Amino acid sequence: MTFTNLEPRAAEILQLYEQPKAAMLPMLWLVQEEQGYVSPEAEVWVGEILGVTRSQVREAVSFYNMYHTQPVGRREIRVCTSLPCLLRGSAEVMKQVQERLQVAPGETTPGQEVTLTEVECLCACEMSPMCQLDETFVGPLDEKTLDTVLQAAMADPQESSPLPEPAPFISTDGPVLSTRFGKTEGTWFEDYVEDDGYVAARKVLTSMTPAEVIEEVSSANLRGLGGAGFPAGRKWSFVPTETTKPKFLVVNADEGEPGTFKDRYIMERDPHALLEGMIIASYAIGSHKAYVYIRGEYFRSAKRLQRAVDEAYSQGWLGSNIQGTGFDLDVVIHRGAGAYICGEETALLTSLEGGKGFPRLKPPFPAISGLFQCPTIVNNVETLTCVPFIFRNGAERFVEIGTPKQGGTRLFCVCGHVNQPGVYEEPVSITLKELIEKAGGVRDGRKLKAVIPGGISAKVLTADEVDVAMDFDSLLAAGTMAGSGGVIVMDETTCMVEALDSASKFFAEESCGQCSPCREGTGWVHRILRRILDGRGNLQDLDRLLAIAGDMEGKTICVFADAAAWPVQSYITKFRDEFEEYIRSGASEDKKEQVACQS
Ligand code: SF4
Repeated sequence: MTFTNLEPRAAEILQLYEQPKAAMLPMLWLVQEEQGYVSPEAEVWVGEILGVTRSQVREAVSFYNMYHTQPVGRREIRVCTSLPCLLRGSAEVMKQVQERLQVAPGETTPGQEVTLTEVECLCACEMSPMCQLDETFVGPLDEKTLDTVLQAAMADPQESSPLPEPAPFISTDGPVLSTRFGKTEGTWFEDYVEDDGYVAARKVLTSMTPAEVIEEVSSANLRGLGGAGFPAGRKWSFVPTETTKPKFLVVNADEGEPGTFKDRYIMERDPHALLEGMIIASYAIGSHKAYVYIRGEYFRSAKRLQRAVDEAYSQGWLGSNIQGTGFDLDVVIHRGAGAYICGEETALLTSLEGGKGFPRLKPPFPAISGLFQCPTIVNNVETLTCVPFIFRNGAERFVEIGTPKQGGTRLFCVCGHVNQPGVYEEPVSITLKELIEKAGGVRDGRKLKAVIPGGISAKVLTADEVDVAMDFDSLLAAGTMAGSGGVIVMDETTCMVEALDSASKFFAEESCGQCSPCREGTGWVHRILRRILDGRGNLQDLDRLLAIAGDMEGKTICVFADAAAWPVQSYITKFRDEFEEYIRSGASEDKKEQVACQS
């Protein structure tokens, strides 16, 4: 088998990267798109092209779950079973799909039509329960929609009818981030410019010094909206000005936290706003090369963002001497391949360099030694998209909208048991209770039981604790965190043992495995919860789970282990009676059946 036909494209890809090995993921995508999987021969070819050993290629192929090492069906249906989908019926969906296709997860139908894959969160929780057929997200999956999807899956891809387009609630009235979200097919260059697009970048490039830009962002109190909440201006100020090394801006578009689905809307509906923020940030830190690391499952986002990048190059907003200002910036869209841990900034950098997505010990922090050991700023999509607003309207206006310590708004993702799941742009002073009301309240008039306010890693709050503002500091003071802005609502019918089991399954599957407390701890937590769900638990298991969580927290390379421990601690502490009752009564036959469907 030869790959001669791929060589011209491979040469183009290699040119985009500072080091050949960094082209690992796009090169593997290239061969998979050609062959349907990554064959042993392809591994050898990729190794030769990149100048690395076959085992280094193999290491990458086996780490990222979107690469296939065996031939698969002509189409792939990926069913999400993460907590937000589970709350809205994914166990039944999975059961139906298996019955209809007569295959188990990981298997392909006898005619090689379709491969069924069970996946963790695809970050499309606003349309849960949902699945992805090849590149397309479909949901919510009721009987009729599922029927359409399965018919399409079994048909010839050229002949199958279009899949229904999901229509969840999405904010369109701003004021900062969602003003152009009404353009469902995307806001392209001309429309963006007509709506004051690139005015902020022009102002920055023609009339401000990098230090002034950083000062303005600092006074706007813009916080990192990927989850950590670190002040963006301060982060930018850490990049050394006196260095001979190149500097990089890396956009974290690896949206993967269950319950979160907002960056996708920015990239698909307003991609130039992100690019404008990237230009301003790159100028501020003195970077002439920016990468957008986008999660592999976001096919449409990557395509739309690439279209915006191409437009920006052709209009002189990217490349050499942008708009005659003397500032140069190149942007590369880099697709991940299915690994939640790559959302952690150092893992993302290791992945971008072509390796397994292993987090690195900090310090050194990326601002000093990041991509290719050079100063690097990693910022989330939403954070950077706030930046043009600040320079168009002034830092003061941004501060006014927010709280004293956190300027602006946030795109809150509300999913689970609400009447109207979706993306809501709101000032961060909004309370969790108000946000749930905005999302139509708890479904079918039921009572609220619990809420996860900031993605699955955040500690759960009870119904009595929702009168809390959604800014970073207020949620921290309430014993949880704002995290990624993913709000998962659970009503009175939710079994908290099953909810925690779902979270623990996610963490056990996504641990990168470098640290023993995390690798072993997440596995044990999940196994013990399975035992409880199966009716074989005992009351000592609860303290055992808390002890394991305690051994995971603060003892590992990255905070993933802490994030895996927090749900265990908060669910068991706040709902201990329910856990004890579950253990005492054992699993009912109904529950056993449901667990069997999920496993
Ligand atoms: Fe990997 Fe977990 Fe260690 Fe993070 S804490 S580096 S995810 S093993």
